[in-house]
Amino acid sequence: MDIAIVGAGIAGLSAALALRKQGFNPRVFERRSVPAAGGAGVTLWPNASFVLEQLGVLHAIQAVGGRPLAMRRYDAAGNALGGLDIELLDRTMGYPTVTVLRRDLQDVLLAHARRAGIAVEFGCQAVAIDLDAQGQAVARFGNGT
Ligand SMILES: Cc1cc2nc3c(=O)[nH]c(=O)nc-3n(C[C@H](O)[C@H](O)[C@H](O)COP(=O)(O)OP(=O)(O)OC[C@H]3O[C@@H](n4cnc5c(N)ncnc54)[C@H](O)[C@@H]3O)c2cc1C
Repeated sequence: MDIAIVGAGIAGLSAALALRKQGFNPRVFERRSVPAAGGAGVTLWPNASFVLEQLGVLHAIQAVGGRPLAMRRYDAAGNALGGLDIELLDRTMGYPTVTVLRRDLQDVLLAHARRAGIAVEFGCQAVAIDLDAQGQAVARFGNGT
C-alpha cells in the first residue's frame, strides 16, 4: 500500500521507517526546501530508545549523541529542587537515555529512510488533501503536483 506522510520531522521520518518495516510503501513530503538544521538538543528517554532500537537507528543516534548521567533542578536563587539519577533509570528500564542535537537526530533518521528506499521529497507544501472519484485520498502540493 502506498502511504503519503506530510512532514519530514522526527515523527514523519520515524513513522516512515516503521511503516517500511511493516511492508508498506511510504513517501514523505516536506515543505522545507532542505532538511531542517535548527533547534537545540533533545533528550531521548529510555522509552524512546526502545522504539528507536526497533527502528534500527539507535546505534547511529548513540554515535552522534551523549549519555546524561544525572539531572538536577534549581530555583532562581540557586537552591536545589531535587534531581534524577539517569544511570539508575536506564538500568531499570534496560535502555539508554541519549541527548542529541535535533539536527543530528534528523540527519540519522533521513539517512536511514533513504537507505531503506523511502522517497523523501523537499519543497512540497501540502495545501489540500481531497478524495478522488474512487474515494482515494489525493494530496495536493503548492508546487502544483
Ligand atoms: C523547546 C522544546 C524542547 C523539547 N525537548 C524535547 C526533549 O528533550 N525530548 C523529547 O523527546 N522531545 C522534546 N521536545 C518535543 C519534540 O521536539 C517534538 O515532539 C518533536 O520534534 C515533534 O516532531 P514532529 O515531527 O511531530 O514535528 P516537527 O519536528 O515540527 O516536524 C513537522 C514537519 O512537518 C513539516 N510540515 C508542516 N506542515 C506541512 C505541510 N503543510 N506540508 C509539508 N510539510 C509540512 C514542517 O516543515 C516540519 O518539518 C521539545 C520541544 C520543544 C519545543
